[in-house]
Amino acid sequence: MMRLPWFEYRAPRSVAEAARILAGEGPGAMLVAGGTDLLPNMKRRHQSPSTLVALRGVDELKAVANGAGLQLGAGLTLTEVVDTPAVRERYTGLWQAAAQVATPHLRNMGTLGGNVCLDTRCTYYNQSYEWRKAIDFCLKKDGETCWVATASKRCVAVSSTDTAPALIALDAKARLASVGGTREIAIADLYRNDGIDFLARKPEELLSAILLPEANGWRSCYWKLRRRGSFDFPVLGVAAAAKLAADGTVEAARIALGAVASRPFLVPKAGEALVGRKLDDAAIGEVAGAVASRAKPMDNADMNLYWRKEVVSAFTTYALRELRGDDMRAERLRTARQALAA
Ligand SMILES: Cc1cc2nc3c(=O)[nH]c(=O)nc-3n(C[C@H](O)[C@H](O)[C@H](O)COP(=O)(O)OP(=O)(O)OC[C@H]3O[C@@H](n4cnc5c(N)ncnc54)[C@H](O)[C@@H]3O)c2cc1C
Ligand code: SF4
Repeated sequence: MMRLPWFEYRAPRSVAEAARILAGEGPGAMLVAGGTDLLPNMKRRHQSPSTLVALRGVDELKAVANGAGLQLGAGLTLTEVVDTPAVRERYTGLWQAAAQVATPHLRNMGTLGGNVCLDTRCTYYNQSYEWRKAIDFCLKKDGETCWVATASKRCVAVSSTDTAPALIALDAKARLASVGGTREIAIADLYRNDGIDFLARKPEELLSAILLPEANGWRSCYWKLRRRGSFDFPVLGVAAAAKLAADGTVEAARIALGAVASRPFLVPKAGEALVGRKLDDAAIGEVAGAVASRAKPMDNADMNLYWRKEVVSAFTTYALRELRGDDMRAERLRTARQALAA
């Protein structure tokens, strides 16, 4: 049986109190929300924080506010996100991404904030302490070599959050709180392409909310590749959002990829290439190829590396066809085992 290491447990009741504790405890402290990722990681000694700052008792982090756009508290569980009508109706891509995270039990515990700040993953890392010790550990934790790219000085562990690519395609912002106040950054800027130092969040900051811009005619979707339909981390996520004129001409578009690098990222040229065009098969095919060329999956996740790169084009095609209004239920059932129609 794997046991948790010893830690102090703090249970603040407000964002300000959580920020004060984080600042006071220093880099040895970690935030825990649902604990669905952090606690298993602690059992495997990936992280051994001296203090856990629990966010479950912070009601402010559960707020949902409508206004110019939609504000979602970082402490909402993924089930609560999925059950929020405004998410389902206006931000379909986020709804489809959240609905495909893990299992119902994990979505009942796991939060939006925890999903956005999820640790990167790798077949050489997500193993027990003894397993990792047997290979002399690796660069990300306790070792000196990256077993995926032995000449690399950088860890290439993969970003496996489902909601982040959807939020990037939707042009969402992250609100970060600390004792010094709050700041808002584009969600895309929260990530670095580094498997170890993958978040631009400062250690004394906590993610308090996600801010979605007004939907204002935008439609969006998220397509996830995973081995099992029941649950699995993504080995590819394609998120797309577009604003179409009445005649179907693309006025603006954003396409983001997940699980093919150490960060989720926008492919700006792909969105730009669609502007002024209809989403016909020629435009979709051209853009799908361009998006696939940006994917750099590594041999550290499930399924064959080369096939994962190839399939990016097909998943981008599904996403853009869904945005133009095609009936994609059969493809959805084949790939996701769920209808996922908003
Ligand atoms: C079997 C299994 C399957 C899974 N499948 C998927 C999947 O398909 N897709 C997927 O995306 N995830 C998956 N997960 C991972 C995880 O369950 C989800 O990502 C979940 O949303 C994490 O949220 P949490 O609240 O439990 O995070 P926690 O485990 O509490 O925290 C995760 C990380 O985020 C940090 N954190 C938490 N809240 C904040 C905050 N407000 N501000 C700053 N940092 C914060 C923590 O310090 C920690 O580093 C899976 C997990 C398991 C065990
Ligand atoms: S990518 Fe390399 S350094 Fe990073 S977790 Fe995997 S083996 Fe370790």
